[in-house]
Amino acid sequence: MCYFGIPLDVRKSPAIYLWAEDRAGNRSEATFYCRMRKKRFRKAKIRVTDRFLKQILPGFSSYLKDTPQGNVVRFLKINQDLRQENAQAFHDLRTKTVQDRLWEGTWLRMKNAANMARLGDRRTYYYKGKKIDEQVHMGVDLASLANSDVPASNNGRVIFAGSMGIYGLTVVLDHGQGLASTYSHLSSIAVQMDQEVAKGEIIGLTGQTGLAGGDHLHFGIMVSGLFVNPIEWWDGHWIQDNVLRKLALLKGGKKGE
Ligand SMILES: [Zn+2]
Repeated sequence: MCYFGIPLDVRKSPAIYLWAEDRAGNRSEATFYCRMRKKRFRKAKIRVTDRFLKQILPGFSSYLKDTPQGNVVRFLKINQDLRQENAQAFHDLRTKTVQDRLWEGTWLRMKNAANMARLGDRRTYYYKGKKIDEQVHMGVDLASLANSDVPASNNGRVIFAGSMGIYGLTVVLDHGQGLASTYSHLSSIAVQMDQEVAKGEIIGLTGQTGLAGGDHLHFGIMVSGLFVNPIEWWDGHWIQDNVLRKLALLKGGKKGE
């Protein structure tokens, strides 16, 4: 069995197939039934102010040492180049997963937190009324009180704990089988690399490190290094229908419904 995600920017149904290759290089492919539903994503406007730039740019001074002066130029370097480097770093963590299933049941959502931004939000950035950039938001922003406890959303193992560019202080947990969760903009980290954590255990405190305008948790779920919608993994019915029921069928050796 394996899990797979669909990239957000896919327009048509992609070709999804299984393949196997033996050591001699003989390769075989097979397709299977797969239904993709359309999903609309939101648009959001972000006003980049001089005050915000003055607040965040000093934190990136070492990354920006060879970038020309000019706050907007420097902001774009972070929002584009560093963002892409960080996306690659998250993607590279997929190789650290274990084959065993560490997770159990639904993923926890931080308590009493308002949902400020969603996965797939298409953000347009404006500076003094002029459009300067466009990016896609790859997680969910949850805002509560400053320095709120951040619980591990499921059982897992720490595969990253440290600074991650625009995401600031970040923890990534592997839940096994290619599933991972990410916690960013933390003010402090309470776990160490390779540490095993239980669902609900506090792994750090919310903050506004990295490219963040205020204290919040940026939460992500990855399937083999691809960010998917956390809302689904918080939903007991969705887990039951899309994951647990199918695992039970596999175990039982019964035919699919
Ligand atoms: Zn975010």
